[in-house]
Amino acid sequence: MANVILRDIRKSFGAVDVIKGIDLSIEAGEFCVFVGPSGCGKSTLLRMIAGLDTQSSGQIEIGGRDVSGLEPSDRGIAMVFQSYALYPHLTVRENIGFGLALAKRPKAEIAERVGAAAEALQLTHLLDRKPKALSGGQRQRVAIGRAIVRDPKVFLFDEPLSNLDAALRAQMRLELTELHAKLGATMIYVTHDQVEAMTMADKIVVLNGGHIEQVGRPMDLYDRPATPFVAGFIGSPK
Ligand code: ADP
Ligand code: MG
Repeated sequence: MANVILRDIRKSFGAVDVIKGIDLSIEAGEFCVFVGPSGCGKSTLLRMIAGLDTQSSGQIEIGGRDVSGLEPSDRGIAMVFQSYALYPHLTVRENIGFGLALAKRPKAEIAERVGAAAEALQLTHLLDRKPKALSGGQRQRVAIGRAIVRDPKVFLFDEPLSNLDAALRAQMRLELTELHAKLGATMIYVTHDQVEAMTMADKIVVLNGGHIEQVGRPMDLYDRPATPFVAGFIGSPK
């Protein structure tokens, strides 16, 4: 696990300022949720931490290291997206191990790491299946498995549950919370769903229009919202 520090991060697309000066400190091992309405800049911020996008100005540190010039693969992070993007022609085992095979890791090591990830995600009995023979929740677990095998210091999730139905979302929320407890890794989790934020987070960062409205533990935000925006957003679960 590693801590993550953002210093005065700004991002413009052309003349449009999308991220307007974000300062934030995320502790090692923390489950930190970025929550806010659609278009407020959550994905853009996460993509800059991942290195998939470059900030216009400001500094990003992961584990005490300035990662600003580093490729995504050198940042010690793994990202899980809303669309699972599994390879349809590969088995669950091959999908989970794909990145390790690409990196030419020894076969025995790949087998061991895929086995451990599958066990953590209750996928062991499904390792020989193809994605089309899996449910939506199982597919999302495979996508998470692909992140786990890389043993990242920081997991980045961008709305990973929004394609799932309500019952499955509730179950996956619990599973992700358990996984966090088991792995002890730092997790940064983006959602527009305040229920997800309130139930999963150690720390919530409420974003609005490219800036931070408030940072705090779920109950702090609920009991003492800093702005009417936070009160309205947190106080009105769907
Ligand atoms: P969120 O994930 O909170 O819904 P995004 O980070 O995707 O929001 O987008 C924030 C704002 O930045 C939106 O207004 C969006 O249209 C704009 N934006 C995102 N990516 C680009 C891009 N590549 N080019 C231009 N504008 C973009
Ligand atoms: Mg988004």
